Amino acid sequence: MFKALQLHQDESGKTLAQIVELDNHHLPEGNVTVDVEYSSLNYKDGLAITGTGKIIRDFPMVPGIDFVGTVSDSEDDRYQVGDKVILTGWGVGERHWGGMSQRARVKGDWLVPLPAELSPEQAMAIGTAGLTAMLCVQALEQAGVKPEQGPVLVTGASGGVGSVAVTLLAKAGFEVHAVTGRADNADWLKSLGAHTIVARSELEGQSRPLDKAIWAGAVDTVGGDILAKVLSQMAYDGAVAACGLAASFQLPTTVMPFILRGVKLLGVDSVMCPYERRLAAWQRLCNDLGHEHYDAFSTVAQLEQVPELAQQIIKGQVRGRVLIQP
Ligand code: NAP
Repeated sequence: MFKALQLHQDESGKTLAQIVELDNHHLPEGNVTVDVEYSSLNYKDGLAITGTGKIIRDFPMVPGIDFVGTVSDSEDDRYQVGDKVILTGWGVGERHWGGMSQRARVKGDWLVPLPAELSPEQAMAIGTAGLTAMLCVQALEQAGVKPEQGPVLVTGASGGVGSVAVTLLAKAGFEVHAVTGRADNADWLKSLGAHTIVARSELEGQSRPLDKAIWAGAVDTVGGDILAKVLSQMAYDGAVAACGLAASFQLPTTVMPFILRGVKLLGVDSVMCPYERRLAAWQRLCNDLGHEHYDAFSTVAQLEQVPELAQQIIKGQVRGRVLIQP
């Protein structure tokens, strides 16, 4: 028997979360079974567990879009019993039972080996959010953004993606300006490497087609009016890596930043990201994040705390990364 958080839907369509005891025969199809050491809490988990977003269509569902653990059974030649593995994305925790459980069964194709340099805790302190932050940083670099070209902006800076993006960009030598709606996180964001704190209110509201050109690059985790304002403030040839919708999925912008300043809007997805690109991103995360970083942006919680934490993350009240120990 093993313990899992399971989501059900009542007759009115409300999503209910409860801790249940399950057997291996309850597990979904897959060719690798993993004893989960940690999952983590991501914004999408918050949407799924609270039922705020239509993330889950088939109930019951075990949430948790990522996990790290040890292979306990494998029909995939690439993975042997005892191997440490990481899973992020691929619809796990959305369409296929996820990581908020002591055991998971998935397709071997969805796994990556845990890099030797990382402990399981460190891997989930990174998790989907950290992997996405790295994919954003790599997208900016591939678009030619360099530290000597000027400051870079990170929106939703106190969140999982944002806090890791601040850390990684500062480590890469950028002058990082961190946008937050929580002024009390300023010292913490500076400890991660932020040079300047920008109040979220400065970027809210309708923007002009073009504003003062400031940013060489930006990582946007929130979308909506804020992303539109960021685009209007991009310097010539600047690039924005857009990965999130914590404020809105809409983008009320004009073509002006693109056609007059050559601004590039780069979409970043971690869910279906191909294997080779994932491996490269994980390797770079191992190289760039020293041991001192993990404790700074992560905390650990138990499965029982997840429903409350899920409410908090969709209200923008969670700071950094939260590991879940099933
Ligand atoms: P998170 O930890 O909740 O961080 C989001 C942050 O955005 C919050 O901490 C808050 O930071 C800010 N925020 C919240 N509500 C806001 C609002 N109404 N207006 C402006 N800012 C707001 O979430 P996360 O896990 O980092 O994910 C961030 C976003 O990226 C989510 O939309 C998520 O779905 C997306 N994401 C996408 C991918 C992908 O593959 N594309 C992968 C992971 C995540 P402050 O308090 O500092 O302002």
